[in-house]
Amino acid sequence: MPSQSVSTPRADILVIDDTPENLNLLSAMLTEQGYKVRSVTKGSTGLRGATAAPPDLILLDINMPEMNGYEVCEHLKANERTREIPVIFISALGDVLDKVRGFAVGGVDYVTKPFQVEEVLARIENHLTIRRLQKQLQTQNEQLQQEIRSRQLAEERFAKAFRSSPNPIAIATLEEGRFIDVNPSFLRFCGYSLEEVIGHTATELDLPSASQTLAYTIQKFQEMGSLHNQEVEFCTKTGELKTILLSIEFIDLANVQCTLLIANDITERKRLENEFISLVSHELRTPLTSIMGALDILGAGKLGTMSEQAQKVLSIATSNTERLIRLVNDILDLERMKSSKIVMHKVKCNAADILVQATEAMQAMADNAQVQLVVNPLNVELWADSDRLLQTLTNLISNAIKFSETGDTVWIGAEVIEDKENFLSASSCASNRLLITVRDQGRGIPEDKLQTIFERFQQVDASDSRKKGGTGLGLAICRNIVQQHNGRIWAESTLGEGSTFYVLLPLASS
Ligand code: ADP
Repeated sequence: MPSQSVSTPRADILVIDDTPENLNLLSAMLTEQGYKVRSVTKGSTGLRGATAAPPDLILLDINMPEMNGYEVCEHLKANERTREIPVIFISALGDVLDKVRGFAVGGVDYVTKPFQVEEVLARIENHLTIRRLQKQLQTQNEQLQQEIRSRQLAEERFAKAFRSSPNPIAIATLEEGRFIDVNPSFLRFCGYSLEEVIGHTATELDLPSASQTLAYTIQKFQEMGSLHNQEVEFCTKTGELKTILLSIEFIDLANVQCTLLIANDITERKRLENEFISLVSHELRTPLTSIMGALDILGAGKLGTMSEQAQKVLSIATSNTERLIRLVNDILDLERMKSSKIVMHKVKCNAADILVQATEAMQAMADNAQVQLVVNPLNVELWADSDRLLQTLTNLISNAIKFSETGDTVWIGAEVIEDKENFLSASSCASNRLLITVRDQGRGIPEDKLQTIFERFQQVDASDSRKKGGTGLGLAICRNIVQQHNGRIWAESTLGEGSTFYVLLPLASS
């Protein structure tokens, strides 16, 4: 075996033997092999040395005065600092019982004198290797324990955050949307027990207030990969309608694709907001009507003729008052629709008639803006409140004209399509629907605004209401009307190329 350099000894070995000849022989043999050797002749001295600076291995004689090898070994094993040091007994006592006792007090090996140098060296090397591996295992074990502890801690933290979150949180499978875990806030929010929720879908529990909204939300989520603060209405177990902001993310749980749903209950905030808006609007209506009346009197010249400049000022005041009245009326209209104070009077009506009427109503505006209107009416019957549907279409056409350039065209059309995805019905069979489209060549709508423009007061550009005279309520009203017809409204657009608004409605026969 090649000896190693003095600066890096192979291991530190303590030899305890009261016979100087043995001690010298062992020391010389081990030093030659590159070990660092400490040798002592007394058990008590050996114990002190081992405690002060624990060696990697101890060679221990048995027959010694004062304290024999067995006792020394017992002391070593009783001490925390020296317990793990491998002890090899080297003794002239060759009796089996001596060996057994040696092992019983904690020795790892037993060599009888006279010994073969190679054998002793081989045994030392073996036990040093075993000890090294033991140490490695111990370290790995400690690291694993540490990792388990930190994982347990992280899991505990996550579980606590999940359980005590004030926001309703649910985890559902991606494929079927079955709930696999929900937090106490979720149960409080929907009124169901854990047993009633786990394993079921939102639709099975009748949570979504309108199936088409949920279908649309899920479709959007799948297209975009995540969803943030989408306003959705939910029904609780007791039938109470709640408004939430829903965020959805994909998560992988042990190779099962899941969705993490986090809700923010804004029902109360919405109620207060609606109450405030409706109160303010009501309060505004009376003075506005009176201002408009006064402006009419002034405009009619009943109080004397006005200079040209005064007439200009009057015309600005009149158009802005009209805009305010429009805004207040829209707000009240929407509020009444939302609180179901407006009932849709659905009758059998002809789609072609409504499309033509809506186009005719907007013809003057189109002429003013030098935009061409092209209508392709379709002669099919549908169940609808024709006034409200007309209101929807005129609003869509008016927007299309507003956001078009001079010389552009707006197409109004309709077709009967097969509703394979069943956006409008809970049944699984496909059925025919009427799809109305209003397409323009205008500035287009950015992708991230395609959904929000259907919310109240949402505009692509903050200057839209000033520049285009809108209120930001038209599409919210349209969506409400369409939803009350069990329909769906959405938009597609390419920036700079134009937008298409779609209205999907059930046909009269279905
Ligand atoms: P407004 O009264 O402001 O038109 P709407 O609710 O009808 O209110 O529309 C909301 C916003 O959606 C508009 O202000 C505009 O920013 C955008 N928008 C609606 N229709 C179109 C369209 N055809 N092209 C481009 N942007 C549109």
